[in-house]
Order: sequence, then structure tokens, then C-alpha cells
Amino acid sequence: MNWKKAVYTLKIFGITVGILLILATLEWQFSPLQKTFAWYQLRTDGYTSLAESQRYVSQLFGEPPYHPSTKFGLILEDTITETSETAQPHTSSTQEDANFLTDQTYLFPVGQDGIYDLEYHSLYLQDKEVAKYTHAGKQHVLMIPQVTYTGKKDKTEVEKELTTQWKTLVSAITKKDKTSAETLLTPKEFENFSKITGLKDLSYRVAPTGKVKLKVGAEESATIQVGTVEIKQSNCSVVADVPILYLKDQKIYRFSDVYVALASLCEKPKPTSSVLSCANCWLAPVSKQFALKSTYAPYTVSTGLNGGGTVTPETKGALTKLFADAKAAGITKIRVSSSYRSFTVQTNLFNTYVRNEKKSGLSEAQAIEKANTYSAKPGHSEHQLGTTLDLVACSYPCSLYDSANGTLNTFLHNNAYKYGFVISYPNGSQAYTGYVYEPWHIRYVGVNYATELYNRGYLKKKGFYLYQFLLEKGKY
Ligand SMILES: [Zn+2]
Repeated sequence: MNWKKAVYTLKIFGITVGILLILATLEWQFSPLQKTFAWYQLRTDGYTSLAESQRYVSQLFGEPPYHPSTKFGLILEDTITETSETAQPHTSSTQEDANFLTDQTYLFPVGQDGIYDLEYHSLYLQDKEVAKYTHAGKQHVLMIPQVTYTGKKDKTEVEKELTTQWKTLVSAITKKDKTSAETLLTPKEFENFSKITGLKDLSYRVAPTGKVKLKVGAEESATIQVGTVEIKQSNCSVVADVPILYLKDQKIYRFSDVYVALASLCEKPKPTSSVLSCANCWLAPVSKQFALKSTYAPYTVSTGLNGGGTVTPETKGALTKLFADAKAAGITKIRVSSSYRSFTVQTNLFNTYVRNEKKSGLSEAQAIEKANTYSAKPGHSEHQLGTTLDLVACSYPCSLYDSANGTLNTFLHNNAYKYGFVISYPNGSQAYTGYVYEPWHIRYVGVNYATELYNRGYLKKKGFYLYQFLLEKGKY
């Protein structure tokens, strides 16, 4: 045989085989055989519902209907024989529960596996049923032999018991006594035990509602909420509910979500805007966080005291007494260094400080930051309230930092509260207030608040100052 001819024949043969293979593949792709194969594939994939099967078939063969008149018609038959054994309670009985609320009932399902088949689908090719699809999966269902429990215990008795238990729980929480708490809380709540705080100043009452609502035949929950403990702090109107749960399997009552209830209780109201909207802002938490409006300008009168200046009339009354007592205590040079400052005055003052800081080589941003440790930005100054003063005890001109002021500063530290004044920026408070220690800067908040703050140790312990106190009081 000619060598070249042999190669040529082989090439032709190869190409022919290739073309035939491609055609065969195409034919396979669109053949009824392939569709049948797909159907069987569908069966073994275990699609669970007719709708799901139809979706799958649509992906393979395009959108329905798959009618016999089309070349490879395919019909999904949905007249399925339902052979499922519907999950239903097949036994029921009644028992008494000595611990549950009288005249109330609950169901206690006992789970039991049952089995039922789902549905049949049929595959038709050209009007001829060629396959039946039986969903092979045996479905597990819960058969429910129901026990209806009827309560026997008097509600008043339960209420009494729960009140005692709640008191025990409060005591356990206060003492951090985990052992006692464990027997009163749900296991889930007990995990939160370390987070439960804030029971100080708590008043409460137990109020089991006794209303037990059950979804008939479907009550699978292991607990029933039978009531709540309403809790409330005496200085706050918010009432929170601690759910009381009945654990059906153990037939005991437990407190739940104490942590959540306490956390929601007496959330301190916080201003929503950084610019305070108060009309009379004398108790507003003016700070780095919250500013007065630029237009806020209270009615002020002359102090009539050494150093002059103006303050609100209430402030003047308190200040006059303070001056008299300070003088009587030997601080004869007591003087107003600064009093009410309008928004504009504060703007100019702050800008002056910034300019001075820049002279020492700081950038604008650095200078503002530095100045803001000892002077407030416009709107953020308590001096705009007309209730705030800087006092010195040295002859003019002298600095706030003059050592001669020492006696006055000590006097203010020990006595200012008696006149209704608070030292806004105490020693060691810069991390909290943002301002350096200013023993001379006092703000009038009234004797009650000033005394409460003093008694709560705001000058001794760190982390609790006028700002937090005013947020707590929320009177702005
Ligand atoms: Zn000041």
C-alpha cells in the first residue's frame, strides 16, 4: 500500500469517527433516553416535593407544559396518591400536676418517631407512562401521645412562694451567691449570672398572670411562661418584666432573663443631639459631648461681689452666702475671676487661647486640642449657663494658678456643696471630663444635687462626676 494513501485514509477515518461521536453526543443530550435517565437521576436525588421536582425538570427540559405533541413530551403527573399517615395524636390522657396553677392545663407531648411516605410522581414520554417516581424518603414525624395535665396548686400559694423565691434570688445576686441562685434561675439564665448586677435600689412585685396559653396539639416547648416579676427602680419610671417559667418536665418554677430585664431597666436618658435643646439648661450636661445653642443666654444679674460679673439670680443668692462664709473663715481676698460668658465671649476667649498656643509652635489642630484641655469650645462652656464661676483669693491681677488661692480652693473643696456648688473638674478627672483639674471652677446645681454628689464621693473616687450625675438625673 502506498504510504501516503494509508495516512490519508486514516485521517478521513479519524475525522469521520469524530463527527459521529459529536452527533452521538448531541443525540444523547436530546434523546428520550437521556430524559428518562434524567428522571431516574431526579428520583435518586430525592427531591421531596412535586414543585421541587418540577423545578428540576424545568431546568433540564425547559419550561412546562411538556405535552405529548412535542417530540419528546414529558408530563409530570401531580395526581399523586397520598399515602402519608398524617401526624396526629393517637393517644391522650389526663393527669394532675400538683405544682401547676389550679384550673389551668397544659399538654405534655411525648415524642415518638413515626414513618410515612410522601408522594408519587409519574413520568410520561409521548403519552406513555414510562416511570413512576416514588419519593423514597421515609419521613420522620412526631407521633404525639398527649398527656393533658391539670393544675392543682392555688395561685395565691404560688404567688407567695414565688415572692419568697424572688427575694432569695435578689439576695443571692447581691451576695454573688451562685449556689443559691442556681436553684432559682433557668439553666440558660444561670450562665449569665456573673453579668447580673444593678439590683441596688430595686423595688419589685411578683405578678404571676396565671394565664397559660397553649397551642393545642403543638405545644412542644418544655417551658410555659406563667407570669412575670415586675421590677422597677425607685428613681425611674421604667418597669421591666422578669418572666417566670414553669419547667414542665421537672414541674418547677424558675426565673428567666433577669439579666435582660435589669439591662433594660432605667437606661439613663441621653440627649439625642450633641446640641442641647433645653430652654432652661441650668442642669444640662454641658460638656465636651454636649453643647448649648449659640443663642442660649440666660437672664443674669450683677454679682455685686468683689470681681463683678453677672450670674443667674439663684446663683447670686448662693454665691453671696459662700463669699460671706469664706471671708468669715479668713479668705478675705475672695474674688470673682470669671462668671457668665456669652457664646461670643467664649468664642473670642477660646480663639485667643488657640492663638497663644500657636505662638509656641503648635499647628492649628494641635493648638485647638491643647487649648481645649483648659478652656471649652464655644457652646461647650459651663460659663454660658450663668451658673458657673471661677473664684480666686488674690489681689488683681493674679492668676487662677496663684498659690495664694490654695486656702480658697480647700474651702471650696470642703464647703462648696453646702451652697449648692459643684467642682466640675476635680483632681484626677481629666481622663473623664477632658479638662485639667480646676479647683476654682464651680457650678451651681442647687444644694440637693450638690450634696448628693458630695455624699456619693465625687471628689474622692474616680469615674463619677457632675457630667454623669446630670445624665443620670436627665433633667435637661
Ligand atoms: Zn471656669
